[in-house]
Amino acid sequence: MKILVINCGSSSLKFQLIDSESEKCLAKGLCERIGIAGSMITYAPAGGEKEKTETPMPDHTEAIRLVLEALTGPETGVVKSLDEIGAVGHRVVHGGEKFAESVLIDEDVLRAVEECNDLAPLHNPANLIGINACRKLMPGTPMVAVFDTAFHQTMPEEAYMYGLPYEYYRKYKIRRYGFHGTSHSYVSRRAAEILGKNYEDLKIIVCHLGNGASVSAVKNGRCVDTSMGLTPLEGLIMGTRSGDIDPAIIEFIAHRENKSIDEIMAVLNKKSGVLGLSDNLSSDFRDLEAGYNGGDANAVRAMRTFSYRVAKYIGAYTAAMNGVDVICFTAGVGENGPLVRSFVCEYLGYLGVALDPEANRMRGTETVITTPESRTVVMSIPTNEELAIARETLRLV
Ligand code: AMP
Repeated sequence: MKILVINCGSSSLKFQLIDSESEKCLAKGLCERIGIAGSMITYAPAGGEKEKTETPMPDHTEAIRLVLEALTGPETGVVKSLDEIGAVGHRVVHGGEKFAESVLIDEDVLRAVEECNDLAPLHNPANLIGINACRKLMPGTPMVAVFDTAFHQTMPEEAYMYGLPYEYYRKYKIRRYGFHGTSHSYVSRRAAEILGKNYEDLKIIVCHLGNGASVSAVKNGRCVDTSMGLTPLEGLIMGTRSGDIDPAIIEFIAHRENKSIDEIMAVLNKKSGVLGLSDNLSSDFRDLEAGYNGGDANAVRAMRTFSYRVAKYIGAYTAAMNGVDVICFTAGVGENGPLVRSFVCEYLGYLGVALDPEANRMRGTETVITTPESRTVVMSIPTNEELAIARETLRLV
């Protein structure tokens, strides 16, 4: 079956068409600036030329119409008609406590996802717009919602509760949810497969280090803790997000800089992280690596502080699981960043981690980066959230 995977943001939409038998991507692309002047669709059929076309996209329905047109077009198309697309898998950011698994989309599911909008006001409404646009253009095609939060729903209460008045949980469901669940699930399973071990027998820590970054602890095939919280702001230092800070800093900055809560939240989400730490050098680790290699103090500070935070979470999750067998690095920096991986591993002597510097040079491949003598295995595994969504979609249809 051919499965269309859609990841819809407020003004952008990523898509991939995946053949579920071969698990190969047949075509992929991106619509940008939806509803804004200068809308653009990028489309790349497998093995073909990438095409970028500027064309008006007043709304998401038009964006999806253009995607379907590209997929079925006489020259660039990879399917003859829409009938060949058997199902659509949608990434949905927040499933709250309602969704511990992916689900087939119907009216009740749409209502329940809408009820989670308060928990992810930037993401869920955009995901719903994408689903509704697809349903309009492909009536009769089954659709599945795959939630970023679902994999983490197995966390025990002591991992997901905050030390706040319990009534906030009762009234508003304020608790840790975690994100990047599709990636944490895919990478932890893949680690077990590559090592030829039983997933249910392992204690795995996954470090998803991209522009957004999170760590999770997966014990016997179930997530028992993760670093992102009610929102994706908690946990690791990220590209532009602060991660964990003393909450009293918010009040301190509000008084000193005369800023509103909204203004401070914008600073914590968009101007902090390695971008802020590097004194605005860059949020991109390619620039930071270059800066580090040139001895730039701002780049050194950002990379060292980022890596130290990752190492602290690995320590915490080793304690949470009473040990760890495998540590996985994934996403942009985890897959392609030998420097960050080596800085993190410098802290892991107590786990008997012996890094293989030659293997650690690899970028973007499935590689064990420790020596055969290493007591804990450390791996770099490229994540594939689209494939994971396609698998879930196939499973449900
Ligand atoms: P993601 O959010 O997973 O797409 O990751 C994006 C981040 O990965 C970028 O901001 C870069 O910092 C980092 N990245 C991507 N490619 C490389 C590379 N070749 N070397 C170092 N960092 C990279």
